[in-house]
Amino acid sequence: MELKALYLYAAVLAVLLCSSVNFIQSPTDVLGPVALLKPTPSSASDFGAVVSDAPFAVMRPESPDDIALLLGALSSAGPSPRATVAALGAGHSLHGQAQARGGIVVETRALPCDVQVVAARAHGDSGGATTVPAAYADVGAGAMWVEVLEECLKFGLAPPSWTDYLYLTVGGTLSNGGISGQTFKHGAQISNVLQLEVVTGKGEVVTCSPTKIPELFFAVLGGLGQFGIITRARIPLQLAPPKVRWVRAFYDSFETFTGDQELLVSMPEQVDYVEGFMVLNEQSLHSSSIAFPAQLNFSPDFGSKGRKKVYYCIEFAVHDFRQDGSSADHVVELVSGKLSYMRPHMYSVEVSYFDFLNRVRMEEESLRSRGLWDVPHPWLNVFVPKHGITQFKDLLMDTVSADFEGLILVYPLLTDKWDGNTSAVVPATPDGVMYIFAVLRSTDPARCGRACVESILAQHRRVADQACRDGGGRRIGAKQYLARQPSPAHWRDHFGSGWGRFAARKARFDPLHVLGPGQGIFPRTD
Ligand code: FAD
Repeated sequence: MELKALYLYAAVLAVLLCSSVNFIQSPTDVLGPVALLKPTPSSASDFGAVVSDAPFAVMRPESPDDIALLLGALSSAGPSPRATVAALGAGHSLHGQAQARGGIVVETRALPCDVQVVAARAHGDSGGATTVPAAYADVGAGAMWVEVLEECLKFGLAPPSWTDYLYLTVGGTLSNGGISGQTFKHGAQISNVLQLEVVTGKGEVVTCSPTKIPELFFAVLGGLGQFGIITRARIPLQLAPPKVRWVRAFYDSFETFTGDQELLVSMPEQVDYVEGFMVLNEQSLHSSSIAFPAQLNFSPDFGSKGRKKVYYCIEFAVHDFRQDGSSADHVVELVSGKLSYMRPHMYSVEVSYFDFLNRVRMEEESLRSRGLWDVPHPWLNVFVPKHGITQFKDLLMDTVSADFEGLILVYPLLTDKWDGNTSAVVPATPDGVMYIFAVLRSTDPARCGRACVESILAQHRRVADQACRDGGGRRIGAKQYLARQPSPAHWRDHFGSGWGRFAARKARFDPLHVLGPGQGIFPRTD
């Protein structure tokens, strides 16, 4: 360990020298295998495929102590400590947020990614008692959610809150929010954490929780990698249903669609998952249905140019704890009787809990097979207060052409499920309801080159500016999610009244601004 520490200090010193005076060409030449490695293509790329900033070096830590040595050295007074550090999870950021130009990328997947399930005697019955007091999983932050799910299911347990796609790391989603169709009921993933182990920007390894060093705990949740690198997380668990009844219902009116979504989220006792999406064309109907194993008998008229018709689909699910599926069927019948979908266009299937949670994997495989996965993804994610959703939808529609490739998710979230102590930013909502609008575009390089991707990004910027900053007319007051803001001034606007607290937390936990350069919030100080 001491020898390793020595190597690491030498490595850090080499990086400091390299990044300040470009003195040594390759840190690996100087250091041997222990500490810093040459950059790999994945350290300068991400899912967005829009930004590519190469780091100077990569670190594959074997333990939090390795990260502590690195950050401790970079944040102590020394020779030109200019290098920055970004944690890299699964690299599914959209705009270079996990990159560090000329700095060091710490690959959290190299940390132990074990998932330790600690369960008190589980209880539960078909009547729907699904809580297991004191059941939790202690997981390495580089573990992907699919790995957490696989391990927990061996005990008949699962975390309550998810993202749609499971090949994201625990540390990556906890640094943002982590939302899906369960969020209305259980809160985002950042609201479902009992304890964290974090290496702060100053190189201290700290275990924190809502009662132990709460300021660090809440800073790091939704903290965009600015305060520390999460190395472990303790996630509460609940009983996992063997099966899920998964329902889709179609609408031709936005108001009826959102009205029914709000009705569904007002029934958390019955309903376990609520999402929805816009059906813009045949392609969006087909691509969103890949994982849904039901024959859809829905071929709507999408109208013609200038008279386009848009449809909407609600997706909800009910957990089923009975092997014969009868309990969920009964709930679905009851709930759907209250909905105003286009009759008879409601479809339902029963699938295993794992297949339900892992549904986007099938879409990934389909896109990969068509060469449409590793392509630029100019995505836009915005939290819109309920009062602004029609205005926002109209703004968005102006940017959507007939050949739109991808999906636009729209579903409601309840703001009282968000803990205001965390660093995550959500809009003010007088009625407690906001919607996520997620514009998930894939661009085929054969049809949309660099200039075309840039123009989509510019359109999204205009929509975000109008919705989030005051675009004149009626103010929407939306907030972006997962975005890299274009300047520190935009970040201050984004945080609004929360900016002072965010900046104070930065000063306390990462005073020299070593961490998270890819977000562009705090320029590195000397
Ligand atoms: P990375 O991209 O590697 O990192 C993201 C940010 O977190 C960076 O700033 C990085 O420096 C920081 N970071 C990473 N690990 C750590 C750590 N251990 N400690 C501190 N900081 C860290 N989001 C949702 O909320 N819901 C969804 O349903 C959803 N679906 C998605 C589907 C796809 C196909 C994709 C590509 C993204 C989706 N996302 C979704 C967005 C996703 O949650 C974020 O992009 C998330 O950050 C990705 O995790 P990652 O492990 O790839 O993180």
